[in-house]
Amino acid sequence: MTPGAALAAECARYTAMGWMRGTSGNLSVVVDRDPLRLAVTVSGRDKGELTADDVVLVDAEGRTDDPVRVPSAEAGLHGRIAAVTGAGAVVHVHALAPVVAAEHWPDGVELRDLEMLKGFGRRAHDDTVLIPVVLNDQDMTVLGDAFEAGYRADVPALIVARHGVYVWGADLHQARHRLECLEWLLRFKVETRRDPR
Ligand SMILES: [Zn+2]
Repeated sequence: MTPGAALAAECARYTAMGWMRGTSGNLSVVVDRDPLRLAVTVSGRDKGELTADDVVLVDAEGRTDDPVRVPSAEAGLHGRIAAVTGAGAVVHVHALAPVVAAEHWPDGVELRDLEMLKGFGRRAHDDTVLIPVVLNDQDMTVLGDAFEAGYRADVPALIVARHGVYVWGADLHQARHRLECLEWLLRFKVETRRDPR
């Protein structure tokens, strides 16, 4: 399967989950490591209806020399995350639970003692996982710097407050499995919080 076909198939699944409303969200896969090149979904298209051609190659800064296709505005952060983490795939969606969680815990969302943490690559018991939260910004360099400042190699996710969530993995499947589990974990966290604020 080409990167474009794989990205389109994943986008259709995420759309079905309600995580890519409107034209929001973007996914990428690394197609070359040195120099870094990513295939990223194009901007402004309905993510439930992408074809294998709705993909554009970008460099580590999210720039392309494609004369026609426009990469997602957030492609620069995909590149930064892939460069820093060594991930093979980065997914970004506007799921609600991560954003609500960031509203309650703006300094980071703490998770522990939950079976679903195993699906996120951590332990179900006696392992505290802090999902970092950064402020939203339209400048991908600002977002990238904030991501890197709080990055830990054992936490493959970043919440952007009042915006959405980034998750990464070795490939699109691992990234999706991690996102599915993280979304469940954050929904649990929000719905069981004791402070009613
Ligand atoms: Zn976004």
